[in-house]
Amino acid sequence: MHLSGRTRRRIQRAFNALEVGLLSDATVVALAGHLSADDARRDLAELDAAHPDVGVAARARALDQALAQPARRPAYVEAHGACGVQRFAASGGAVVVLLPVETFADHVNNLYWVRSAEGALLFDVGSGGASSRRDLALSFAVAREVFGEPARYEDLDVALVSHAHLDHFGGANDVRASSRARLAVHELDARVLACFSERAVLVAKDIDVYLRRAGGDAALRQRLLGMYKGSRERFHDVEPDHRLKDGDRVLGHEIVHVPGHCPGLVCLRVGDVMLSSDHVLARITPHQFPQAITPFAGLEHYFASLAKVRELPVRLTLGGHEEPIHDLAARVDEIAAFTRHRLDETAAALSTPRSVVEVARALFGEQPGYGDLLAIEEAGACVEYLHALGRLKVANLDEVTREADPIVRYVTRT
Ligand SMILES: [Zn+2]
Ligand SMILES: [Zn+2]
Repeated sequence: MHLSGRTRRRIQRAFNALEVGLLSDATVVALAGHLSADDARRDLAELDAAHPDVGVAARARALDQALAQPARRPAYVEAHGACGVQRFAASGGAVVVLLPVETFADHVNNLYWVRSAEGALLFDVGSGGASSRRDLALSFAVAREVFGEPARYEDLDVALVSHAHLDHFGGANDVRASSRARLAVHELDARVLACFSERAVLVAKDIDVYLRRAGGDAALRQRLLGMYKGSRERFHDVEPDHRLKDGDRVLGHEIVHVPGHCPGLVCLRVGDVMLSSDHVLARITPHQFPQAITPFAGLEHYFASLAKVRELPVRLTLGGHEEPIHDLAARVDEIAAFTRHRLDETAAALSTPRSVVEVARALFGEQPGYGDLLAIEEAGACVEYLHALGRLKVANLDEVTREADPIVRYVTRT
């Protein structure tokens, strides 16, 4: 069953619109109603015709029965959730509720509310933007109404930030303002929250130096840096209450430090369920940065962190985006193979001398908007790793020796 992200979102949106019928709270219904019921039914019929093996029609029938007969509602929501909010039971008695939140336009994060005997925890806090706040309030309300969970933002004991990317931590200011939760983050990412404004300035400089060396001309650098800075103007420095290390326990749940995608990235083990944030995702391979921009990131760390989680006794893995993962080891193997294949493609592109920007163009073409910076970072992570392994050498060493501000070109060593 290979559905594109776009198709999955369409299915989810149509069900969301109809599942509003399972809710009674008027404010929740008003918040959730993005699409009319007629349009939603038309969409589902169309989607079922195009993808008959996905089970859209069966779920739509089950939903109709649940809407007509309240006795059938518990079974429906345990199987499918409501408006994207889903509940999972972990071994040891903890309950995990998935709260889907649109953090940026067309970018959905999964936040998780975790209830156990030791208290209530929120894993990731959203972006702090308007849609993020709206969806978080809606998801909490759905968790209360549909599952009867005592899920309240104001009553959280701990808000745990999985890593210092804005879609995961930008809501930390809201946590401080509106919740009694203690804020926890890994010690390697704590500085990003505590000294955000300083770091944004320094990283912009580092990216500029990196892009020069990578072969980015003045116009490209100005465009990319403008976008980088623009996305980082809202957040105010916030001091975390807890700086986490690998193996720490938070409300009884174990922190697993998995550097790579981000230096301070952590997964959280809740019994036999693991919240994997951006370390392991169901469909996309997590974005990689060169260590030249982000120390403690990079592919060597990423591969080691994949191996670290592969052997854990985990029954269900819930990512920071996309769908649940039922076979963690198989997904880890797929991601590792995909990344090794990308390394081989990078090496092949460097059979002739190229800068990092030229490698990014060869691998990904020219990407629109922010995607261009992501493509250059991704290519840069591959080039850096291959160079560290001795598979590449600098092709224009004379020029690099001579010039104060050179573009570095790499080529495979034969
Ligand atoms: Zn991330
Ligand atoms: Zn993410």
